[in-house]
Amino acid sequence: MAKILVISDIHANLVALEAVLQDAGQVDQVFCLGDIAGYGPLPNECIARLRSLSNLTCMMGNHDFAALGDLPLETFNHEARKALHWQKKVLTAESKQFLGELSQTMVVNGDVSLVHGSPRDSIWEYIMNTLSARMNLNAFETSWCFMGHSHFQAIFQYTLEKDEITIEVPRQGETYAMRERAFLNPGSVGQPRDRDPRAAYAIYDPQAQSWEPHRVAYDIHTVQQQILDAGLPARHAERLAGGW
Ligand code: ZN
Repeated sequence: MAKILVISDIHANLVALEAVLQDAGQVDQVFCLGDIAGYGPLPNECIARLRSLSNLTCMMGNHDFAALGDLPLETFNHEARKALHWQKKVLTAESKQFLGELSQTMVVNGDVSLVHGSPRDSIWEYIMNTLSARMNLNAFETSWCFMGHSHFQAIFQYTLEKDEITIEVPRQGETYAMRERAFLNPGSVGQPRDRDPRAAYAIYDPQAQSWEPHRVAYDIHTVQQQILDAGLPARHAERLAGGW
């Protein structure tokens, strides 16, 4: 049995990342689907922690891209923008180098294509519904595509016989047999948006072809305090408790 930890959208939330790593236990590989930076208080520390993991494959997210570059930040809402300006200031040269080397386009690993957003546009496009899933179905060639970006744990399952895509919201504790083609989203480590404030991740077993979605509680109060202490928008602290 091989155990691959699939994480996404850490958003500089080190306490949530540590909780996930501890809950997942020993793993053989880590797929990180991007957005290490943005929103949260400890981007450098999250990057250092990721760099300490062996067998890491990591994608670039839209917040990582924005925190690095000269992109006009108008594409982000007012408060996300504030956090990005702040991150641009605090990111060390080493952290920027790590972010700069992340993959901006789809990475194929065995039976899986890895993206931040979608196969067509790895950094920016959201797969939120069956229409966007359908439009991306021919943009990758592997059986499965793992993506983040939406901060929702979800499986978009394609059934060839009916030529149909359905959305499944995974239940904690269930193991999904991966059949036919599908888009799988492990949810967000550092800022879940499905009204469940617990950190989200998934375990993928390439031999068993199974996907286990997980949630783990972490010390949200500490992170809220870190956000306020850093002078980041209070709204980013508030939303963590509500899972939005
Ligand atoms: Zn994100």
